[in-house]
Amino acid sequence: MQEQLIALLGQPVTHSKSPQMQNLAFQALELPYRYLAFDVAPQRLKAAISGLKALGFRGANVTIPHKVAILPFLDELTPLARGIGAVNTLCYQDGRLLGDNTDGQGYLASLLEEFPHLQLEKMSVGIAGAGGAARAVAFTLAHHGIGKLYIVNRHLEKGKALADSLREWVDAEAVPFHQFQKVASKLNLLIHATPVGMSPNTEESLIPVEWLHAEMIVSDLIYNPLETRLLREAKERGALIHNGIGMLVHQGALSFERWTGLKAPVELMRECLINSLQT
Ligand code: NAP
Repeated sequence: MQEQLIALLGQPVTHSKSPQMQNLAFQALELPYRYLAFDVAPQRLKAAISGLKALGFRGANVTIPHKVAILPFLDELTPLARGIGAVNTLCYQDGRLLGDNTDGQGYLASLLEEFPHLQLEKMSVGIAGAGGAARAVAFTLAHHGIGKLYIVNRHLEKGKALADSLREWVDAEAVPFHQFQKVASKLNLLIHATPVGMSPNTEESLIPVEWLHAEMIVSDLIYNPLETRLLREAKERGALIHNGIGMLVHQGALSFERWTGLKAPVELMRECLINSLQT
């Protein structure tokens, strides 16, 4: 089999753990694939896409700041990527470039892996944030089926826009920050989807401790550190906790599966990420 090339398109890309994780997974399955990171400035994105096609790349990952800007250059989108309005995975199929989004599915896979008996369709879910990651997670949960979704965001209008775009699938409501404590008291799952608390600002937390209680799962999309201040405080209040590493592993595993058609070595990928975060 001829070598298959996969690109990572982003700016910056030097910090990314994906090349190490994906190349290890390809080697483990003895696949002739190679994953290469490219630092692409926004004004060069269209040319980069043409380059991938000309050079016969099999597919790509797309990261900040191109996840939305790349949409006009793609031939097709999966329904999930269209709904989310952003892509993180590209795959050539019969010469056509298909855009997909595995972030939300990666989150869901990780949540159900750690809490296999969740009955999401009965659950009240709150999400703090309305950016790209929040949108991918909220859209995927809404499609999967959840009882009710509450959104809290610094700029309320953005939270309202997200709720409006999801109402076709779920009972969704944006709530101002100062009114959220009452909502939090009845939540079964609270998802934090902003960068507040991410390394190096590890002593920060957006979520007041008064929102946290023992009947909820608190999920933080941040994976560096693995235990954020939010998760530490949630644990102290008796909540179950879920960090962002599983989402990172599973979004990568799903991308791997799109490119190769094979089941990804998830545990190896997780080990690789955890090791690289600890060094
Ligand atoms: P984004 O598109 O830039 O969105 C950022 C969100 O955070 C917005 O809702 C923004 O509110 C809010 N925000 C930012 N700074 C804030 C502050 N100081 N106070 C209150 N709200 C603030 O970013 P993203 O891509 O969604 O990423 C969000 C987080 O998810 C990051 O920590 C990222 O590392 C993590 N993430 C994890 C994974 C994973 O695989 N585990 C994948 C993707 C992202 P406004 O709308 O009001 O500006």
